[in-house]
Amino acid sequence: MLLKSCDPNDREGSMKLVEDLTMNANQVQKQILHEILTQNADTEYLRGFLGSGDSFHRELFKKRVPIVNYDDIKPYIERIANGEPSQIISAQPISELLTSSGTSGGQPKLMPSTAEDLDRKTFLYNLLVPVMNQYMDGLDQGKGMYLLFIKPEIKTPSGLMARPVLTSYYKSSNFRNRPFNRFNVYTSPDETILCPDNQQSMYCQLLCGLIQREEVLRVGAVFASALLRAIKFIEDNWQELCSNIRTGHVSDWITDSICRNAVLNILRQHNPELADLIESECKAKSWEGIIKRLWPRTKYVDVIVTGSMAQYVSTLDFYSGGLPLVSTMYASSECYFGINLNPLSEPSNVSYTLLPNMAYFEFLPVNKKHGEEGERDTCDVSSEMNCSKKEDKEVGEEKGEAVDLIQVEPGHYYELIVTTFSGLYRYRVGDILMVTGFHNNAPQFRFVHRQNVVLSIDTDKTNEDDLLMAVTEAKQLLDPLGFLLTEYTSYADTSSIPGHYVLFWELKSRRGNPDQKLPEMDRNVMEECCYTVEQSLDYVYRRCRSKDKSIGALEIRVVRQGTFDALMDFCVSQGSSVNQYKTPRCVKSGEAIEILDSRVVGRFMTKRIPFWEPYGIDTIS
Ligand code: AMP
Repeated sequence: MLLKSCDPNDREGSMKLVEDLTMNANQVQKQILHEILTQNADTEYLRGFLGSGDSFHRELFKKRVPIVNYDDIKPYIERIANGEPSQIISAQPISELLTSSGTSGGQPKLMPSTAEDLDRKTFLYNLLVPVMNQYMDGLDQGKGMYLLFIKPEIKTPSGLMARPVLTSYYKSSNFRNRPFNRFNVYTSPDETILCPDNQQSMYCQLLCGLIQREEVLRVGAVFASALLRAIKFIEDNWQELCSNIRTGHVSDWITDSICRNAVLNILRQHNPELADLIESECKAKSWEGIIKRLWPRTKYVDVIVTGSMAQYVSTLDFYSGGLPLVSTMYASSECYFGINLNPLSEPSNVSYTLLPNMAYFEFLPVNKKHGEEGERDTCDVSSEMNCSKKEDKEVGEEKGEAVDLIQVEPGHYYELIVTTFSGLYRYRVGDILMVTGFHNNAPQFRFVHRQNVVLSIDTDKTNEDDLLMAVTEAKQLLDPLGFLLTEYTSYADTSSIPGHYVLFWELKSRRGNPDQKLPEMDRNVMEECCYTVEQSLDYVYRRCRSKDKSIGALEIRVVRQGTFDALMDFCVSQGSSVNQYKTPRCVKSGEAIEILDSRVVGRFMTKRIPFWEPYGIDTIS
C-alpha cells in the first residue's frame, strides 16, 4: 500500500487507494518512518544521532534527531555534490540534486533525490485524474492544453545533475514513457515541453494548442503566473501564430529541429479558416474571457492559485471568463506532499490532504496568531505571503513540540517538517499550514504562507532579509547625491504581465528641503539603484528576470517626505498599535498602496538585466 502503483484509468481503484491511505494514516506514517530508519540506519547522519542500534523507534528518533533547516544539512549535501558517497545521508543512491526555489546565501538549496522518488511523484500525479473524474465527466473526450517547461541544469563536480524538480520529472522516463491515459492527453508534444529554449517551447506549445482548439477541455500550467505569461505571449504573438496556421508553415526562428518536427506533425496543412477565427478573437478590444473564446470547450483552468499565486486569481477570472480555477496539488523539491480532494472548491477554500505514504510528516505548532489576518499589522496582513520579523520571533518563541500527522488540531497553525527516504531528517520546509479538517484520519491543510516571504511574482521567494540586503547595497549609491534613504517598503505589482517588484523609497536630503531637490535627482543614479537591488537579489529572482522573463524590471518610486508617517497613521487607524508599529516591508492593501502612490514624485526603472547564469560548479565548495 505504501507505494502501490496506481492506474489513473481506474477511478475506483485509485480512489480506494486514497481511502485506504487516509483511513490508515497513522499506521502508514509509522510504517514509513520505520522503513526510512531501517533503510538509512547506517548513514553517517543517522548514526551520528542514533548510534548504531538496529531498531530505532519513533520516540528515540524524535528525542535524538534534531529538527533542522537547510544550513544545518548543507555541508552534507555539498559533500555529496563534491563526490562523496550518498551513504552519508541516504542508503539509496542519490541520483540527482533538485534545485529548490528557496535559496541559501543567494544560491538555490539543493535537495537530494533518488530514483524511487520519481515513483512517489508518479504515484501522486496518477491520483490527480481519478480525483478530478469524480467531479467532472467527459475528460476523456478531448485534451488538456498544459504549458510545461524545463529549466537549465548543471552537473555538480561529482557528475550529479542539479536541476529543478519539474525539469527532472519531465525528463524522466516516468514522464516520457508514461502509459497512455485517455483522460490525460496533452496538446503539447513532449518534444515541445522538453525544448530547452523557453521561447521556442512556449511558441510551439501555444501553436499546437491553438491548432487543436476544438479538442481542448482544460487549460493549465503548474503555477498561475506561467499561464498568465502564456496569455501575454499570445497577446504579443497572435499575428505570427495565426500566420503559421494560415500558411501551414512554422516560423523560421523555431530552430530546434526536434521541436519543429513535432509541431509540423500537428500542423499538417494550412488552415485559413482557423486562422481567421483565432484572429477575430484576438483582435477584439477586450480580452475578457479569452481562454473560453480561444478554447471554447474548456471546462476548467488547472493552475495552482494558492499561496503567493492567490494574487493572480482576479486576473485569471478575467481571462478565463469565470471558469473554475483548480489547484490540484501541493509539492516541493524536498518531497511531494499532497493533493486537493475537492478540486472545484473556491481558491480561498482550497485544502490539501497530505498523502501519508509520501514521507514522514511532523508539525511544529506555531503561534496561533500567526497567519490570522485580523491580528497582524493591518498594512501587510492582506498579503498571504507577508510575515514580519517581529512575528517570526514571537512564533519562534512560542513553538512547542513537533506533533504527528494525526495529532494536529483543526484551526491550528503548523510549520511542516519532513523526513524523507532520500536523506532529509526532520527538515523544516518553511511552509505554514492551517488544519481545516480531516479526510478519514488524514488532516487537510490550507496553505497559509511561506515563512518570511514578502515578495513573489513567479517562483521567486524574496524574504525581508533579502530585501533589506539588496536595499542596503543600493542605497549607498545615493551618498554622492546627498540623499539618505529614510524608509522603504515594497509590493508585488501584478497589474501587468509579467509582474514586477515596486519599492517605495522616502529620501531625505543631507542639505536641505528634499522636495525641492527631488526633481533634479540624477535619473542615472536612480536607475543604477534599481539595477543594484536586482543584482543583489537571489539566484531565482535573477533567473526569473533574465532567463525566464517571468518578472519585469524592478521599479523604485520615490515618495515625498512624510509619506511613511501617513502610512503609519493609516495602519494605526486600522488597528495597529502605535507603540509596536513597525514599517511593513511589504504592503498589499489597496488603501496602503494608494497612500504611497499618491505621494510619488519620481519613478525609476533600469533598462539593464541583472546577471544570471546556472550557478558555477566552483560554488559547491
Ligand atoms: P520548490 O522547493 O522550489 O519546489 O518550492 C516549493 C514551495 O512552493 C513549497 O514549499 C511551497 O512554499 C510552494 N508551493 C508548492 N505548491 C504549492 C501550493 N499548491 N500552494 C501554495 N504554495 C505551494
